[in-house]
Amino acid sequence: MSETTVYEGLLVAWLLLAAATMLLLHRFTAPYGRHVRRGWGPALPDRIGWVAMESPAPLVFALLFALGRHRTSPASWAFFGMWEAHYLHRAWIYPWTRRSRSRPMPLVIAGLGFSFNLVNAYLNGRYLFSLSVGYPPTWLRDPRFLAGLALFLAGFAINRQADHILHRLRRPGENGYRIPQGGFYRWVSCPNYLGEIAEWTGWALATWSLPGLAFAVWTAANLVPRARAHHRWYREHFPDYPPERKALLPGLW
Ligand code: NDP
Repeated sequence: MSETTVYEGLLVAWLLLAAATMLLLHRFTAPYGRHVRRGWGPALPDRIGWVAMESPAPLVFALLFALGRHRTSPASWAFFGMWEAHYLHRAWIYPWTRRSRSRPMPLVIAGLGFSFNLVNAYLNGRYLFSLSVGYPPTWLRDPRFLAGLALFLAGFAINRQADHILHRLRRPGENGYRIPQGGFYRWVSCPNYLGEIAEWTGWALATWSLPGLAFAVWTAANLVPRARAHHRWYREHFPDYPPERKALLPGLW
């Protein structure tokens, strides 16, 4: 069986699994962070869990770039830059900014995150740098690429600002929660998730590819239900929670 056949089968299964995950997570909140619960077996320190589960993304993607037959194309360099700008931070800088020491991450969550990043980086990197017919240099002026890049950069900025605001809410050693203020928190409870969804929707547009679309669907599958759970949690725990604040989409939901 050729790699292309295996790749196509995996991609279809991956899209179906994303849809199933979205349905599952509407009924069940993943047990990490404020939603951590007993009974999920052994756990890792939060930071170690984040480094372990995110590391395959920058490493596998970089390897596939280095080995890829399209590695010299300007579009490949642009995709490589976008991906690594997000994942070098997410895997190796972001975990050290989190102040979540009192809430270890269940090993099963770290394992699922690790597997997700491995498959997702393979599907995206292998397609972009080798299995696709390649992107001509003019792709960098194509409206799909430009709109996708703009959305990606806006999402990147919103996500980073939101995560930064959250991390400043706790002093070293504190474990409790406060109502976040400022930035996109004026309008929604989870701008970090809004930014992340915008980033990978922009990625899907900029790469105009099925693996890119699958990544955007997976991100929404994970984060839309989690935003709803966070929003409900804030309302239950803070009687003075701003009533006009929505869960994820300013003014809408
Ligand atoms: P959360 O918003 O749940 O938490 C982020 C950090 O901020 C945690 O350390 C958390 O502590 C702390 N925190 C959150 N709210 C408060 C508050 N009100 N007061 C004080 N501290 C607070 O985000 P996640 O951990 O779910 O996700 C982290 C990043 O990873 C985000 O940028 C997200 O977009 C991204 N992500 C991407 C996914 C994808 O599919 N692409 C999937 C999951 C996450 P504690 O842990 O103690 O709750």
